[in-house]
Amino acid sequence: MIPQSFIQELLTRVDIVDVVGRSVKLKKAGANYQGLCPFHNEKTPSFSVSPTKQFYHCFGCGAHGSSINFLMEHFGMGFVEAVHELARDAGLTVPEDNSREGRDAAQKASQQLALSQWMDRAAAYYRLRLKETPAAIQYLKDRGVSGETAKRFGLGYAPAGWRNLEGVLPDYAAEDAERAGLVIAGDEGRRYDRFRERVMFPIRNPRGQIIGFGGRVMGAGEPKYLNSPEGPLFSKGHELYGLYEAREGIRETGRVLVVEGYMDVVMLHQYGCTYAVATLGTATTAVHITKLLRQADRIVFAFDGDSAGRRAAWRALENALPVLSDTKQLDFLFLPPEHDPDSFVREEGLEAFEALVRDALPLSSFLLKELASRGDITTPEGRARMQAELKPLVLQMPDIALRTQILVDMAGRLGLHTEELASYVGLQLARPAAPSGRSGQGRNFGGAGGHARAGNDYGARQAGRSGASRSDGRWGGAAQGAGFQGAGSHGAHGDASGADPYGRGTHAGGNRSGSGHGGWTREGGAGRPDGGRAGAGDGRWGGAVQGA
Ligand SMILES: [Zn+2]
Repeated sequence: MIPQSFIQELLTRVDIVDVVGRSVKLKKAGANYQGLCPFHNEKTPSFSVSPTKQFYHCFGCGAHGSSINFLMEHFGMGFVEAVHELARDAGLTVPEDNSREGRDAAQKASQQLALSQWMDRAAAYYRLRLKETPAAIQYLKDRGVSGETAKRFGLGYAPAGWRNLEGVLPDYAAEDAERAGLVIAGDEGRRYDRFRERVMFPIRNPRGQIIGFGGRVMGAGEPKYLNSPEGPLFSKGHELYGLYEAREGIRETGRVLVVEGYMDVVMLHQYGCTYAVATLGTATTAVHITKLLRQADRIVFAFDGDSAGRRAAWRALENALPVLSDTKQLDFLFLPPEHDPDSFVREEGLEAFEALVRDALPLSSFLLKELASRGDITTPEGRARMQAELKPLVLQMPDIALRTQILVDMAGRLGLHTEELASYVGLQLARPAAPSGRSGQGRNFGGAGGHARAGNDYGARQAGRSGASRSDGRWGGAAQGAGFQGAGSHGAHGDASGADPYGRGTHAGGNRSGSGHGGWTREGGAGRPDGGRAGAGDGRWGGAVQGA
């Protein structure tokens, strides 16, 4: 039997608006959400979901219940199945029986509830102090934060002094004061407030409960940002700042923007980009990404354009690889070097920022560009290094179509069969059933204009490889074109080097018309039977980037 305590904890950990919202299009109406009832046929919405009561109710047919009831009635699940489904979503393990695990979970849940009440008290105190501290108000005004925004995010101020919370918390000496991360126990039992002289940003979980704080100094002090410590309530690897405030924005746009700072989130929301959240002084983790992908189909990671930003972006990419899926999109946005999202949206406005979001680099493009930037792709050594660095990355990805596509693209750049590259990294690709299927595929590829040019380019590289000394430079140029420029320059380069120095003009023409592809390979001799196939990735990649 599943212990009742676990059911209770589960229902506090999931949000019924999310659970129902995945099947029913919900619109905010006052404190509740409304939509067309999934249990009876109707044209005007009488189905209501209450985030505070965590119930749905239909005024038309009387359907009524919790998240568990919804899964049972809407999807026909059994009770146990519904509990497991929700638990998986919430990252909880269903206890088998009324075991120690079950009791622990119940204890943890009640402790968390108690601690979150301590956090509420502290937050209310900080909000009050902000109103009474002109210097803190002025600081926020100077940063461009409106009063409305400060209220929406519950901003506050922790004043100077060591034990301000003594009269605020139920018991300053209790261990819970430490567990909540509000009080530090120093040497010889001296206790003092963790947050002093800082502007306070409450961190809420997706249900709106305060689980931690970020405190920012107003002047030059260090550290600039101080976060709540890891504890029973707060884990920075799991939580995101602004996720509660961004819920509607994410639901409306289907996307979520991940930035690095509290201030970025606050200002983006103020300017109308209401789907922004921030990591809390840590790289984006797989847990973060899994959490976000449950709510949005597209994640856009925003990073500063400097080298630190690119390193952080790369860490996010590495953490994202194991949880990628073909129906979700992960993109990377790099700001101009002198900007962070906060300064950019203030100076350039929302439209300019939304344009950056729109044009963000797809994960695969970022991956390939970053690898290419690390070595000289025109040398065998550089390409070998790229191949070696690709291997662990590809192996982290689940078996999805994107993984195959990345291998196809990369093989094109490296002058390999896709199958060769796949076998190098230790993967086996599905092969066409009949041997004739392959040559047929090759001819079809040859018919595409972009592909035919890519094939030529590849041929030029091959020719250069076996050519006279002056062909080295040519070859290098062609390889660069094939590698990481746009489709246009790539194609042009391939044609030029193919037609002029090596007398490939005829073949180039033939290829462009789509008929001479195989013929070139045979005549050229230097090329490989799959010259065109390997090149195919180039053309499509270039096109994909341009189109994105
Ligand atoms: Zn109904």
